[in-house]
Amino acid sequence: MTQDTRHFPAHGAAKSARDRITPIVVMAWVEATAVTAVGLALLPGWWRLLALALPLVPLWITIATLGQFGGPVGVTLSPGKVTVAWLRSARHHYSFPLGLVSGVSMAPRSDDSRAGLSICRWVPDSQRLELLRGRGPVVRLFLSEPCSRIFQGDGPRLWAGPRRPRQVAVREVALSVDDPEALADTLVRMLGLPEPRAGGAGAEARTTVVKETTRPDPAHSPPPGAAASSALDGPCLSATGLGYAYGTVTAVKEVTLTVRAGEVVGLVGLNGAGKTTTLRIVTGVLRPQAGHVSVAGFGLWADPAQSLSARRVLGVVPDGFPVYPRLTGREYLEFVARLYSVPPAEARSRTAELASRLDLPDAVLARPSATYSTGTRRKLMILAGVVHKPRFLVMDEPTSGLDPQAQRSFKEWLATIRHDGVGVLLSSHSLPLVADCCDRLLILHEGTIAAQGSIGELASRFRLAGSDAEAVFFAAIGRPGPRGGGCE
Ligand code: ATP
Repeated sequence: MTQDTRHFPAHGAAKSARDRITPIVVMAWVEATAVTAVGLALLPGWWRLLALALPLVPLWITIATLGQFGGPVGVTLSPGKVTVAWLRSARHHYSFPLGLVSGVSMAPRSDDSRAGLSICRWVPDSQRLELLRGRGPVVRLFLSEPCSRIFQGDGPRLWAGPRRPRQVAVREVALSVDDPEALADTLVRMLGLPEPRAGGAGAEARTTVVKETTRPDPAHSPPPGAAASSALDGPCLSATGLGYAYGTVTAVKEVTLTVRAGEVVGLVGLNGAGKTTTLRIVTGVLRPQAGHVSVAGFGLWADPAQSLSARRVLGVVPDGFPVYPRLTGREYLEFVARLYSVPPAEARSRTAELASRLDLPDAVLARPSATYSTGTRRKLMILAGVVHKPRFLVMDEPTSGLDPQAQRSFKEWLATIRHDGVGVLLSSHSLPLVADCCDRLLILHEGTIAAQGSIGELASRFRLAGSDAEAVFFAAIGRPGPRGGGCE
């Protein structure tokens, strides 16, 4: 690592303070003088006092605006630390350890409808800090784990007074600087990353490098170039060390799981065990506070290109029914297909066989989904989950509401997609279902994995007389089963 400190000014910040401030001050005084002169000439009697007060408006605007133009503004790379500074003072800055930077990419600022405006904001959903100015390329720094810091300043705004500082967690920083190539190159050198390659995984990316982290983590996001090959060979799901807490409630702690191609893994646990939280993390809904997830070799929470690749091969059958009620079943399937860029005709042919298996005829699919029974809704959700032919499928209580005939068809269909190499993570409270359908069970208890393995393996580990899913479950969570233990 080089030991020097380098500063990269933001767009426009390299101008001297005098260059930036002088025109504003001159303009304000011209306006103030003009307003006063016009007021004195036109207003009668005591109203002229108003003419003396009017210049306060341009003066106030000047003072407020000057607050936005102080400098220096930009990024400073010092040994072991990255500091991004915004606006005029040291108060408006955010710094994080250099070692957390796991990737650097550079892309044009074309996707932002407000391109050209100055933005300094924290985007909670993607845990992204944006410090954008002008229209130039944006350098993105990806952090290997969220970095929590006090952040102040959402500028630009007219009143540059103090703002309430906030504690924010950042996974990605997007920056506009005068010389983005130099920033990317310096980062690469300081971090000892592989040389930037032209053409990253994302269509628009021009420079993308991803650092190998020191964390011995098989699920760590691979470099974009390597992702495609690992996608063919690796597990469908690889999640390591997952952790999530809702405030003071720890929902999931140190959860590590793998689902291989053609394998059906059952996720079971008592109410509140952390199943939903785990499913939300591995389906890309909830960003884990600890750990890593990769789907078919693509880092689900890595850079946007990998995350998109992961989501493309991921199918989800949720427990709820997130359908616009006025859409017909057919329209909903077409809508979902379009989200995945699957032509409607192809989507129809993909779902036709399953629809007939589950007894969901065209006449029903032509009706608004608001008129569906619970079981029909469930069937529609299953169809929508596979319309894009996912490689990894997550299902939450997929058979709830299905009649016995449809349940049987569902199990037969599951066997066929398993045969086709799709990996499935199936969460259910129905132990007979998971016993029937799953190769392995993953038993969650109080947010951690109590046991995992096939029912046979677990039965012998817990020295149970038979291979009964219920007995295995209660033995794993350390509670006597309804029929009392059942140990040898
Ligand atoms: P169930 O079988 O009842 O659906 P679960 O295994 O899916 O339960 P989770 O929903 O993941 O469990 O909840 C795990 C823990 O996190 C529980 O203690 C729950 O109370 C808590 N929890 C879940 N969601 C929230 C939330 N939004 N805010 C606060 N606590 C939450």
